[in-house]
Amino acid sequence: SDEFKMVLGALELYDKTVENAMTRYEDIFMLPDTLNLSADMVTQILDMGYTRIPIYEKKTQDDDEDRKNVVALLFVKDLALLDPADSHNVMKIASIYNHEVRRVLVDMPLRNMLEEFKRGEYHMALVERLVEQEDKDPIYELCGLITLEDIIEEIIQCE
Ligand code: ATP
Ligand code: ATP
Repeated sequence: SDEFKMVLGALELYDKTVENAMTRYEDIFMLPDTLNLSADMVTQILDMGYTRIPIYEKKTQDDDEDRKNVVALLFVKDLALLDPADSHNVMKIASIYNHEVRRVLVDMPLRNMLEEFKRGEYHMALVERLVEQEDKDPIYELCGLITLEDIIEEIIQCE
């Protein structure tokens, strides 16, 4: 039955980590900090259907690499109040609202992630993994994104 599956799903939260539920790095919809929004682009962004969009710092010509440098979050609702007289650079808009970028480690137990979200301060986190480096301090590398909805999907097991 569905109830039985849900109980199992909830129990499995004890064995699973953020990695099992997150949206993977390649699938994150993000925008570069250099982007200036046209009306068309705003429409396209709204059509994506995401509420929160990471903004990454454009440092090189390599988008795949640059996407790891997330520096801000744009909330789609922030676009509602755009003044036609202002610059529509995404980073400028994100800086006005300055939503905190929360980060968690990929091996965090899903149970703990759920507790965090339940506290209500945030509902999305960037997921990072620790990468060891020779002769240097380890670095944190972006590998995904997780929201409350991802955990709920694990509980009700509707893959
Ligand atoms: P909300 O439902 O709070 O309005 P939303 O629909 O943007 O926000 P969620 O419902 O929290 O997002 O999550 C739905 C799914 O979309 C989850 O799997 C989540 O990981 C994924 N997701 C959320 N934001 C992004 C994004 N910017 N890029 C890719 N996937 C995302
Ligand atoms: P996060 O949880 O990722 O930090 P958030 O808490 O800022 O995001 P939501 O979780 O989407 O945003 O909404 C939090 C509360 O703010 C909800 O009660 C929601 O109804 C309310 N809210 C969201 N958008 C607006 C808006 N444009 N104007 C007024 N209230 C809003």
